[in-house]
Amino acid sequence: MKETKDHAALSEAFNADEPRVNWHDETLWFVRQKRDRAAQTIPDWELLRETASRIKHNVLSNLHDYLLQFEASARANGVIVHWAADAREHNQIVHAILQKHKVDRMVKSKSMLTEECHLNEYLAENGVEVIDSDLGERIVQLAKEPPSHIVLPSIHKKKEEVGMIFHEHLGTPTGMSDPQALTEAARQHLRETFLTRRAALTGVNFAVAETGEFVICTNEGNADMGAHLADVHIACMGIEKLIPERKHLGVFLRLLTRSATGQPITTYSSHFKKPREGHELHLVLVDNGRSVQLGREDFRNSLKCIRCGACMNTCPVYRRSGGHSYHTAVAGPIGSILAPNLDMKANADLPFASTLCGSCTNVCPVKIDIHDQLYKWRQVIVREGYADTKKTMGMKAMTATFASPATFKLAGKAGRWFMRHAPFAVNNRLNPWYKQRDMPAPPKESFGEWYLKNRKKKHE
Ligand code: SF4
Repeated sequence: MKETKDHAALSEAFNADEPRVNWHDETLWFVRQKRDRAAQTIPDWELLRETASRIKHNVLSNLHDYLLQFEASARANGVIVHWAADAREHNQIVHAILQKHKVDRMVKSKSMLTEECHLNEYLAENGVEVIDSDLGERIVQLAKEPPSHIVLPSIHKKKEEVGMIFHEHLGTPTGMSDPQALTEAARQHLRETFLTRRAALTGVNFAVAETGEFVICTNEGNADMGAHLADVHIACMGIEKLIPERKHLGVFLRLLTRSATGQPITTYSSHFKKPREGHELHLVLVDNGRSVQLGREDFRNSLKCIRCGACMNTCPVYRRSGGHSYHTAVAGPIGSILAPNLDMKANADLPFASTLCGSCTNVCPVKIDIHDQLYKWRQVIVREGYADTKKTMGMKAMTATFASPATFKLAGKAGRWFMRHAPFAVNNRLNPWYKQRDMPAPPKESFGEWYLKNRKKKHE
């Protein structure tokens, strides 16, 4: 069967299980509420957001200089720095490092960049086994699914389903669904992985241009376990992850986890600066479309994103359509801005997967104008000819109808007649609106007719 790559169709499939949709919605709203409470504990929250946004503005305006400064500082610390223009180069670089060390099994902590580059698939094709060590990532990896959320990768899975996956792959008892017991099972399973892998790959949350160091935030300590026990540590980062100075970490670390999960800080905020004696530390700096987005003035701000996931947790469309309906590595509102930059044709549906309510913009810790950018992408997509043909034709017909009072009146009359005398012309499966809702009963007359009649009456 051909894989569907359309948000509406994939959402429809997710919505077939209504109790799951309600549960998904409520769970993410719970996280959003935790974020609100955490934000309220900081009196200067808005000032913090504004400061973060301005620091990132400075970074994006001077990215070239900060990148070179970071590279020089990192090299001076003994780090081996690589540059990757795109996903293919990134994957080849990582593979070449592993080949050099004759490594065919690697442990990997959470990295949305490697999801974006499809690194696991690439390495698997080249005979390298990757074990994801973040619990949520490991669950979806065992289930052979992509993550559905950037912070909570397996949020679409219930604990009973996790129990079944662990039973099948890790040999836990049938029906085990206690989160504590499942976590313990994963812990035992991953411990062996950490102790036997000679290479570890991690993501990067923040890279400091001034010092050449980088910071990884986790709640499980899995990035540290992997990196400290392996001979080779490979850290992969998008070029937008930079901040100018170490003191700026104080701003971002306070915002990141409060926005993500409502915690005051991640359990582990680990700083990496230089390789351990006799070991190698590699940093892969990846562009993969970021410099193109930087050149798109209307969408440049999307590169300020610190991947907290708050825009997903608050988005009514994301909560009720699930992360997989976005068919791209980064789901939700920010993913719908980033994805068309990478492939406008394949992701033309995503900017339309929004109510434009603006809740995402309100919660974003770096003040990205998310809903404005979604609206602007729609205009670009229509202008570039990537919009859905049915939608384009429909909009053209609507434009012609609204532009002529006579046509508008005639269309209204025809619509009311059909709904009254031939309702099946509207109430059929070809009408997506009708799939879940009844069409309203047709009024006896148009508002214009009613107005004229009543006004006439008043003057009589
Ligand atoms: S766009 Fe803003 S709210 Fe969404 S993930 Fe990025 S930083 Fe968080």
